[in-house]
Amino acid sequence: MKTEVGMVNAFVEGKTELDAATAEMIRRRSALLGPAYRLFYERPLHLVRGEGVWLYDPEGEAYLDAYNNVTSIGHCRPEVVEAIAEQAATLATNTRYIHASILDYAARLLATMPDEIGHMMFTCTGSDANDLATRIAQSYTGGTGIVVTETAYHGITQSVSEFSPSLGENVDMGPHVRTVPAPDAYRMGEGMADAFGDAVAAAFADLRRHGIKPALFICDGIFASDGVFDGPAGFLQKAVAATRAAGALYVADEVQSGFGRTGDAMWGFQRHGVIPDLVTMGKPMGNGYPVAGVAVRPEVIDEFGRKARYFNTFGGNAVAVRAAGAVLDVIEKENLVENAREIGAYMRDRMRALQTEYPQIGDVRGAGLFIGVEMVSDPEIKTPDAGLATAIVNGLRDENVLISGCAKAANVLKIRPPLVFTRDNADYFLAALERVLERTLK
Ligand code: PMP
Repeated sequence: MKTEVGMVNAFVEGKTELDAATAEMIRRRSALLGPAYRLFYERPLHLVRGEGVWLYDPEGEAYLDAYNNVTSIGHCRPEVVEAIAEQAATLATNTRYIHASILDYAARLLATMPDEIGHMMFTCTGSDANDLATRIAQSYTGGTGIVVTETAYHGITQSVSEFSPSLGENVDMGPHVRTVPAPDAYRMGEGMADAFGDAVAAAFADLRRHGIKPALFICDGIFASDGVFDGPAGFLQKAVAATRAAGALYVADEVQSGFGRTGDAMWGFQRHGVIPDLVTMGKPMGNGYPVAGVAVRPEVIDEFGRKARYFNTFGGNAVAVRAAGAVLDVIEKENLVENAREIGAYMRDRMRALQTEYPQIGDVRGAGLFIGVEMVSDPEIKTPDAGLATAIVNGLRDENVLISGCAKAANVLKIRPPLVFTRDNADYFLAALERVLERTLK
């Protein structure tokens, strides 16, 4: 069986000694849920409660969450819980009736985007959003060809899994899909932006050479599964220009980088000064309530909208948009974009300071509260060290601090705390990381 890049820290049956209660739950779980699910960590976690940046197990033990970007304004945020409860007790219907909340929310959300993007459509998941964006882009361009980065993840539907190479080599890429190397400034240096733009141009040329008309280039604004590449702000411009020159549309997948995560603005693409044709979003949008969507330029959706009706039973339902509205309230009220910028920069500075003592920390990068730490066995030639990254992820879990890993070589720590992370939380995290590094490397 080949690796699944997105699950570098998956629990492996029989590899670790577990207590009887945990072993029994895992046995029931695989008996009931079947073989396709995976669990994090060598010692999987059983969680029963969450509050703010903390998660709790049945014994009441607390774990610092530095990983979950869904509950980005904190677990079980009372403002969101109240909005959901109040709306669920009042009216829970769909987009086929007139309802003010969806209009208010769409207006607020579109106001955070460039003027060129004028419509907002609602889905239930990020996969669902990327699937819809693909249909729209393919309809607009009349093409099917798709370009993605080589370890991208965009979702689980049939069409989207065909352009999600991080699912691993057991899941086939579509014949209309081409991959380009991730924009790895750590290895590619100054020429990265040009090389990335050239790779996108070459991928579209190759599609055409095979009789496949280009439709879209889609990328995650922080290249999360590729290994967290923030690059120099603006580097995406060349790739977007190459996309448009090929007659394709640029889809900004903001499922990871949206809603203030990257600390510069609400959306990851804004760091690059590019204006997408379609923007997809999900995860943190409802802080745990399933709500996702596609924002689009009016001219791109115009013909599609006249040809095909769009209805998504739960997408944009009255409860979902109230949850999403409460999330925006908190982001604005608590200046969480700024907090992500400040605390993220503080954490990166402190981790960079550890590089002298631990040269195995090859690179510390990211934007806002999306941090990637690349572990290497030889800093001179930057040899990826997946074993070390996995040992640190599991070591932190033993310290009750939750992160995970990513990247093609599975050697990058993926650190993505809730946007409400405080400096104290950051210090707690950093102290645990230092203990784990000392234990693992000294
Ligand atoms: N795009 C990106 C960049 C993602 O990270 C994910 C989820 N990890 C998705 C799309 C799919 O979202 P969902 O799981 O809500 O379908």
